[in-house]
Amino acid sequence: MEIKTYGAEVLNQIAEEVTEITEDLRNTIEDMIIECPKANGIGLAAPQIGISKRFFVVTMLSYENEQGEKVPSFKEAFINPVITDRKGSIKMEEGCLSVPGIYEIVERPEEISVKYTDLNGEEKIINAYGMLARVIQHEYDHLDGVLFISRIPQIKKDLLKKKLKNMKSKNT
Ligand SMILES: [Zn+2]
Repeated sequence: MEIKTYGAEVLNQIAEEVTEITEDLRNTIEDMIIECPKANGIGLAAPQIGISKRFFVVTMLSYENEQGEKVPSFKEAFINPVITDRKGSIKMEEGCLSVPGIYEIVERPEEISVKYTDLNGEEKIINAYGMLARVIQHEYDHLDGVLFISRIPQIKKDLLKKKLKNMKSKNT
């Protein structure tokens, strides 16, 4: 599984709806769920592996939050997701497997509701906050051809210009 990086055209495209959960799609998603944490990612969207379709996976390992509580691991496929509600606003650092080596603070809604179809074809709605809300919004952006670096202040973008240009030159 090759992860596309900045400059690859597929990362700028608006992905298409999934019309059917085929065996092929199921296999791809299962591979993504295995490969994502291996690449030290917590989320991976289809366009990042060159597939312009509306699905992504979230693979968060269990961790201890700021209150010292153990947050259980969460692995899920989001097919044709729609963010139906957004609340609040919070700044958090983000990185992306498609923009390696770059980490920037991004401001996004703090809490979201998302409707999607899971790998078994069941429709689900979840409310997410904290890290999970962040990952879902980041991955969701990939389905619309949006990278997190387009959501940072212009001054930060200017500082990244050279790095990004170098990254892009390897993909064109
Ligand atoms: Zn990303």
